Amino acid sequence: MKIAMIGTGYVGLVSGVCFSDFGHEVICVDKDPAKLAKLNAGDVPIYEPGLDDLMAKNVAAGRLTFSGNLAEAVAGADAVFIAVGTPTRRGDGHADLTYVMAAATEIAQALTDYAVVVTKSTVPVGTNARVAETIRAANPDVDFDVASNPEFLREGAAIDDFMRPDRIVVGVESDRAAEVMQAIYRPLYLRDFPVMTTDLESAEMIKYAANAFLATKITFINEIANLCERTGADVKMVSKGMGMDGRIGNKFLHAGPGYGGSCFPKDTSALARIGQEYGVPMQLTETVIKVNEETKRRMVDKVFDLCGGSVNGKTVAVLGVTFKPNTDDMRDAPSLTIVPALVGKGAKVRVVDPQGAREGEALLPGVTWVEDVYEAAKGADAVVILTEWNEFRALDLGRVAADMATPVMADLRNIYNPDDARAAGFTAYVSIGRKDYG
Ligand code: NAD
Repeated sequence: MKIAMIGTGYVGLVSGVCFSDFGHEVICVDKDPAKLAKLNAGDVPIYEPGLDDLMAKNVAAGRLTFSGNLAEAVAGADAVFIAVGTPTRRGDGHADLTYVMAAATEIAQALTDYAVVVTKSTVPVGTNARVAETIRAANPDVDFDVASNPEFLREGAAIDDFMRPDRIVVGVESDRAAEVMQAIYRPLYLRDFPVMTTDLESAEMIKYAANAFLATKITFINEIANLCERTGADVKMVSKGMGMDGRIGNKFLHAGPGYGGSCFPKDTSALARIGQEYGVPMQLTETVIKVNEETKRRMVDKVFDLCGGSVNGKTVAVLGVTFKPNTDDMRDAPSLTIVPALVGKGAKVRVVDPQGAREGEALLPGVTWVEDVYEAAKGADAVVILTEWNEFRALDLGRVAADMATPVMADLRNIYNPDDARAAGFTAYVSIGRKDYG
């Protein structure tokens, strides 16, 4: 199969690389000249474990190329994937479809023979129909079908998620499009990964419903954690006890500083807007969005309280700013609420993050970037753990505490336990939904 992949972000690049690894001939297209220059030089512009090796392997095999020329990539392709961004539209919370529609128009003008135009971007119900209309209007004679193929990969584990998916969802309107999609995913289909074929609208809805459900699950345990703090229960035990129930499951039940990232905040917001548009308010999702914002703000209060009510003039070492470990993605990370609040109240913030500096430098003005945790903690008045990178999971807590001016810690990912913190010399330790001290 010949595939054109439009957009080489977290989804487009991973999908393009993995499709080429299946044996397909893939051209990845992007508009960003800086990204293209990197890709053509063999560099991966994002941090995603394993992507560099898989990309190099398939480039060397001649199956994977990068181009800025959409028309050349689309001409002769069996399938053209749209994997451009669908960020939150400024002002109203809707998914911004500008990039998707612009790509559809460009694709329409470039299509030569029959091809399936597949939307991989997360898009509101009805968008694939709009893509089809746009293509028809721009190029009335062209022979094509549209397909909806939402992506479920997680940053940080993207290759494994793509290669070993729980399911592949394909929304189509014709048998011909279904056959092309089946041929593309054949290597996974043969290994018994389920391919679910639906209509376009259901495929579009599955993606939003899945993300809103996961955001709800996280927010639910965060709210329970808040109650645990008042009642003396321990949220780690509560979530373990809940998760052992097969009907509930133990995933996405870890209390933390609130969800962030490139998907949950924008997709919950878009789902809420879709509901309003259709006169069916998504009341649960709307509440989840509100509770999540409150959760992030509560984290700021926790740090203020830990510092005796004020952070003015105090040095705070922040461990981790990406929205989760194993990614450099900072989009809507809780750190973007918490760190500016500390800086705004006069704290001197030192940040350590294995991959966060490239994006974070522009997003977190007024902080000092430090390479090493022990260096960051030296003379500090508080340590705040915001992202559970492996590097932060096995610190020599005694050494961290010994070098601090005031040995206090806010562990907003519950990676340590209060007894260990006390034994290491921390005079105060706060976490999420547990009995803290200090
Ligand atoms: P991204 O912002 O990282 O990448 C988008 C890329 O598209 C950019 O490199 C941009 O330059 C390029 N682009 C935009 N318009 C273009 C055009 N007309 N021609 C060529 N290139 C163009 O976005 P992402 O995180 O990869 O997300 C893409 C979509 O996938 C979104 O709809 C997102 O919701 C969805 N999604 C993302 C994830 C994730 O974990 N990031 C997971 C599942 C689904």
